[in-house]
Amino acid sequence: MAVTTYMGTRDQSLKASASEAIVRGICPDGGLYIPQGIPKMDRSPEELMQMDYRQLAYEVLKLYLDFTEEELKYCIDHAYDDKFDTKQIVPLVKKGDALYLELFHGRTLAFKDMALSILPYLMKTAAKKLGMREEIVILTATSGDTGKAALEGFANVDGIRIMVFFPEDGVSPVQKLQMTTQEGDNTCVVGIKGNFDDAQSAVKRIFTDKELETELAAKGYRFSSANSINIGRLVPQIVYYYWAYIQAVKMGEISWGEPLDFTVPTGNFGDILAGWYAAQMGLPAGHFVCASNDNKVLYDFFRTGTYDKNRAFHVTVSPSMDILISSNLERLLCHMGGQEKTKAEMAALQEKGVYQAEITEKRISGEYATEGETFAAIKEVFRKTGYVMDTHTAVAYAAYQKYRAESGSSTPMVIVSTASPYKFTKDVMTALDEKYAGEDAFVLMAELEKVSGVPVPEPIRGIQERPIRHKNVCEKENIAAFVRGWL
Ligand SMILES: *Cc1c(COP(=O)(O)O)cnc(C)c1O
Repeated sequence: MAVTTYMGTRDQSLKASASEAIVRGICPDGGLYIPQGIPKMDRSPEELMQMDYRQLAYEVLKLYLDFTEEELKYCIDHAYDDKFDTKQIVPLVKKGDALYLELFHGRTLAFKDMALSILPYLMKTAAKKLGMREEIVILTATSGDTGKAALEGFANVDGIRIMVFFPEDGVSPVQKLQMTTQEGDNTCVVGIKGNFDDAQSAVKRIFTDKELETELAAKGYRFSSANSINIGRLVPQIVYYYWAYIQAVKMGEISWGEPLDFTVPTGNFGDILAGWYAAQMGLPAGHFVCASNDNKVLYDFFRTGTYDKNRAFHVTVSPSMDILISSNLERLLCHMGGQEKTKAEMAALQEKGVYQAEITEKRISGEYATEGETFAAIKEVFRKTGYVMDTHTAVAYAAYQKYRAESGSSTPMVIVSTASPYKFTKDVMTALDEKYAGEDAFVLMAELEKVSGVPVPEPIRGIQERPIRHKNVCEKENIAAFVRGWL
C-alpha cells in the first residue's frame, strides 16, 4: 500500500500520517494538511473503464490513505450503498450543450454527501489505528449543506459527538428544517447570529485554543472537524472527477486522453481543488472554471492575484457559496508557492483581510454570476431542455456561458451539479415563473414535481411535519462557551 505522508501548509515540518491528519482535522498552527507529493494513478484507462463507483473509489483512496485493503473496502462499501438513490451513485447526464455531474443523489441531496457518507468510517478507522481512547467531538461550521450531511453521517455513531453551527438567517427553509429536525442523541445543532464566515472563524479558533483543548482532554474529549479542511473530506471528492471523465468517454463525448473541462460552483474551494488533484494524478482533465456568486472574492483573486475579503457580504440564492474566506485555497497556494509564502499570506489575511499571491497555475480561472444571471440560467436551461437546475448549479451554468464566450473554447464541459433543486424550491420555482414568488417553499415542492417530472426525493418528503429537535441560538462571540456547556 502506498503511503502518502501529509505536511502543513504553513510549516512543512508538521508531518502527519493520513490517519493522524483525519483525526486532527487541522494542523496545530492553524494550517491545513496536504500530501507531500500528489500520487499518480496506477491503473490503466482500460482498467478504470471497467470499474463501478466503489472500485474506482478504492483505487483513488488507497493512494492517499494508510489503511489496509480490508479497512478501506469496509469504509467504501458502507458509504456508497443504497443510501444513494441510484446504483451509479453519481450520474452524468447530457442536457443541451453541457454534461451535468449530479452529485446530489445521497441522503441530504447535496454534494457534501459524497464525502460525508464516508468520513465517519474513515475517522473511526483512523482513531482505532492510532489507539485513541478519547471521545471525538466533531465541530462543524456550515453554510447549509455540510451541516446536514455531517449530521446524517455521524448521527448515532458511537464514540463520536457532533456539533453543527449554521448562520440563523443564511440558509434555505428546507436546509434549516433538515438540520433542526435531526435525530440522534450525539447531535447538537446551533443557529448563529452571524454569517458563515463568523461561524467558520469561531470554529477554527476553537481548534487552536490550547486552553480549551487541555480542559476538554481532561474530560476525555478530543476535537475534530468535518469541514472541508479535513483531508478525509477532500480525498473522496477526487473520485467523482475520474468517474465523470470515464462516463464521458463511455458516452462518446470524448476519447481517453482528450481534455474535458469542468465548471465548479465554488465556496470553500474544496470541490474544485479535488478536481485539480485528479488532474495532478494524471487525469486528462482540461480547464477548471471556478464559479462564484456575488461573493466573488475568488473571481477577483484569479483575475488579479489579490485576495481581499474586505467587502460587503451578500446573502444570495446560492447560500452554500456565500463565503469570503475560502479555506481550501490555502492548499493551492501552498502547492504553488510553498509553506513560507503561504504562511505570510495567511498571516496577512488574518491581520489585514488581504494578501497577494503569484498564480502560477493557469489551469483554473474564475467567473461569476449575479442573482439575475442565476435566475435567467435556470429559466433558459429549463426552456431549452426541460431540465431543472438548483441555484448553485445555475451559477456554474451562467459562469460556463461566460467562459465559453470569453475563451472561444469548444472543449466538452461538465457542469458540476452540487444540489437537488428540491433544496431550493422557492428560488428555483420563482426563477421559472414569477407567479411562484409568494408561495410557501413546501407547497412548491409539489409544483416542482409536476414541472420537472422528477419525484420529490424520499429524504425530504413530509419534512415540514417532523418535530423540531434543536432550538439553540447563540451569539457568534459565545460559541466556545456553548461548546463547554454541551460537553
Ligand atoms: C458546499 C457547496 C458548494 C461549494 O463547495 P466548496 O467545496 O465549498 O467549494 C456548492 N454548492 C453546494 C450545493 C454546496 O453544498
